[in-house]
Amino acid sequence: MSGFEATTHYFRQAARVMELSDRVQLLLINPDKEIKVEVAIELDSGQLGIFQGYRIQHNAARGPLKGGLRYHPSVDEDDVKSLAALMTWKTAVVDLPYGGAKGGIACDPASMSPGELERLTRKFIRQIHTDLGPTRDIPAPDVNTDAQVMAWVMSEYSQLHGFAPAVVTGKPLELHGSQGREAATGLGLVFVIEEVLKDLGRPVAGTTFAIQGFGNVGSHTARLLHERGAKVLAVSDVSVGVFNPDGLDIPRLLEYVRGRRLLKDYPGEERRISNEELLTMPCDVLIPAALGGVFTADLAREVRAPVIVEGANGPTPPEADAIFNQRGLLVVPDILANAGGVTVSYFEWVQNLQHFRWELDQVSGQLDRIMRQSYRTVQGLAKSRQVSLRTAAFIVAIGRVGRAVIHLGL
Ligand code: NAD
Repeated sequence: MSGFEATTHYFRQAARVMELSDRVQLLLINPDKEIKVEVAIELDSGQLGIFQGYRIQHNAARGPLKGGLRYHPSVDEDDVKSLAALMTWKTAVVDLPYGGAKGGIACDPASMSPGELERLTRKFIRQIHTDLGPTRDIPAPDVNTDAQVMAWVMSEYSQLHGFAPAVVTGKPLELHGSQGREAATGLGLVFVIEEVLKDLGRPVAGTTFAIQGFGNVGSHTARLLHERGAKVLAVSDVSVGVFNPDGLDIPRLLEYVRGRRLLKDYPGEERRISNEELLTMPCDVLIPAALGGVFTADLAREVRAPVIVEGANGPTPPEADAIFNQRGLLVVPDILANAGGVTVSYFEWVQNLQHFRWELDQVSGQLDRIMRQSYRTVQGLAKSRQVSLRTAAFIVAIGRVGRAVIHLGL
């Protein structure tokens, strides 16, 4: 099943419970617009580099489109389409006035120089700029894109349209980024985890975690959990996992990866494990925070954590989801769990439109409120309708987007 088929499967699962009409379903499934461009740049070697770039705008019924930009060799049309649809549902679950979009370029940033990445980003923005804008479509960081890439997006767009910081979020603070944006997805995840554990009658302190992915989402989540007294037993990146049964020294690991180094070269004594071992190790909470589609059906049968909180987008294909549900594992879905990033992106956009800055306390306080309230709404619905948290989150989101679509008319 492709990524987009998986997202559609979850949509239909919720639509069945809602008894949603075929007419509304037809209006909500497919993207409004799909943009595909050939991005040609000069490589440092003097050779021509040609890369496929995508921006897919899924549904704008509730507001301007919002969604990240991903640079990765696996980026393709289906992948971006699925992630764009997830953004529509995610912004609706946390009730932000946005629609959903996603973009990406099929490239391998690890093998490219900063100059090549800058030329690639600027060229891509020149090719799609008429479809972007503070009231049209607002990109943000995702896998392998960071505040520097967002600064190039803003710079290129502003050269064509006039100074426009609100065209992109996740910018450096010096270019009107928001306090707290970098750690926002991890912090949002931690607020949700605190609520889940409250329901299970236990504190974060002393609870054990395994985290796949030690980039933006995984590393901030690990840090914040560690600061709250949790035991992070294992973390991994694309190269390897590191494991300590007594809990890892997270500050030391963070210091190490700050220099963009891979965990396989980490000098600590910790045991090395594979990503597969990490996903199936005994722990209280498992957090996939790398790429999508990580749980195969075989792996899903082996997972030993009773709680899975999806930091990554789309880590659980439907076959694995069915196994988790059948086995009674609690899965907090991506569209709820990792919505902290887009929520603080929203705060950044609001600050840019108002030409006014918020303090970190205000950002964290508002994020805290939105994440906990959204979890409570979804959890309450899951309980009353006797459905999974994923189906409940889709019901909340589809209800909001569906009603907007009906009011707008054709
Ligand atoms: P990132 O590029 O900062 O980090 C990705 C991490 O995953 C790195 O540690 C990388 O080594 C690891 N990784 C890559 N391929 C892997 C593999 N095959 N096996 C194991 N590890 C692998 O990306 P990020 O921004 O942290 O995003 C991670 C996930 O979270 C993505 O699914 C993304 O869509 C999602 N997400 C990100 C944000 C955000 O604000 N950045 C918000 C919501 C969701």
